[in-house]
Amino acid sequence: MKTVAIIGAGLCGATAAAKLVRSGHNVAVFDKGRSVGGRMSSKRTDAGYLDMGAQYFTARSETFQRQVQSWLEVGCVEVWNCNTASLADDEGRSALDSSPDQQLRYIGTPSMQAPVKAVLAGIPVLTNCRIHALQRQGPGWTLIDDSGARHTGFSSVLLTVPPAQAEQLLVNSGLPGMLTAQDSLLEPCWAVAVRTDATTSPDAIFCQHPRLRFISHQATKTGRSRCYVLHFNAEFSRDHLDQPADFWFGQAVDVLQSALGIEGVIEPVAAHRWLYASQNPALEPPGIIALPDGNLWLGGDWSYGGRVENAWLAGLDLAANVIRYGNR
Ligand SMILES: Cc1cc2nc3c(=O)[nH]c(=O)nc-3n(C[C@H](O)[C@H](O)[C@H](O)COP(=O)(O)OP(=O)(O)OC[C@H]3O[C@@H](n4cnc5c(N)ncnc54)[C@H](O)[C@@H]3O)c2cc1C
Repeated sequence: MKTVAIIGAGLCGATAAAKLVRSGHNVAVFDKGRSVGGRMSSKRTDAGYLDMGAQYFTARSETFQRQVQSWLEVGCVEVWNCNTASLADDEGRSALDSSPDQQLRYIGTPSMQAPVKAVLAGIPVLTNCRIHALQRQGPGWTLIDDSGARHTGFSSVLLTVPPAQAEQLLVNSGLPGMLTAQDSLLEPCWAVAVRTDATTSPDAIFCQHPRLRFISHQATKTGRSRCYVLHFNAEFSRDHLDQPADFWFGQAVDVLQSALGIEGVIEPVAAHRWLYASQNPALEPPGIIALPDGNLWLGGDWSYGGRVENAWLAGLDLAANVIRYGNR
């Protein structure tokens, strides 16, 4: 039986793994993180989870709607009934306006990782294992991790990590240049969580703001801590990428006071720097990238334009490619 190595246990890698298992393959999934989920990431705190990565997801295609329906039925996903608003900034004057819409938004419960965990149920995953390089050995592949340990015997490899990280791994493997043109596809984002007793009525705030792209109030999400999470936009995050957490807490307090009018104590809780968060809208998504003769396939949300749904679609396509080429 063929064994496929999948590097990355985000939704893309998980979805590919599950489809390959259903079609009779053995799989082994590797992730450098402590847990699965990748950018669908919630931090556990004493007061509940905090979504530091994706805040919600939508389902536009019929196939993904069917997948979401099955997650809703088993209870690892629910609809986020949020009040939406927009925050505009006109030369330093902020305006917060309610902007209700009909969009269905979904969240994992009790954390954003929950649907990824559900997809991976029963599938072997090695976490805390960063793959450093790949080595071709005859018709198969060996994976070498950061500790130098070798994982051997794979007929195919799926690389489902952000393009810049994939390119580095390929350079380490003597296979440079497959993704050089794509390494700025995903842009950075600083995510900051703060706690305050004050609440504003909107809990999903889309920002056209010099510093911010999104603010969410976690209290309306099942199992979450009563915090605000602020996502700073790509430009501001890039310009201040190496600033310490205290700088970001200061920015968060300033925005909540000046733009949302929040008064009283605002307590810092967590800050996380995402070097590769979401798609650069100025760049064309490249689709799945392949070394078909070598049975090496690269993809992720970035293949089709970022977003959780695209990670899922890319996972299905990666698995379909392995199945198609494996049967030749
Ligand atoms: C701040 C932020 C906000 C977002 N907001 C939204 C939103 O509101 N709606 C939406 O739809 N999407 C949103 N997204 C995007 C969404 O999270 C992603 O589209 C989706 O989770 C990507 O899944 P993936 O499997 O393609 O990649 P990832 O989730 O990035 O998975 C890749 C995995 O590879 C692992 N990895 C990397 N390098 C290695 C290595 N060398 N060895 C082993 N493992 C490795 C990583 O640890 C990671 O787990 C947001 C993302 C961020 C960061």
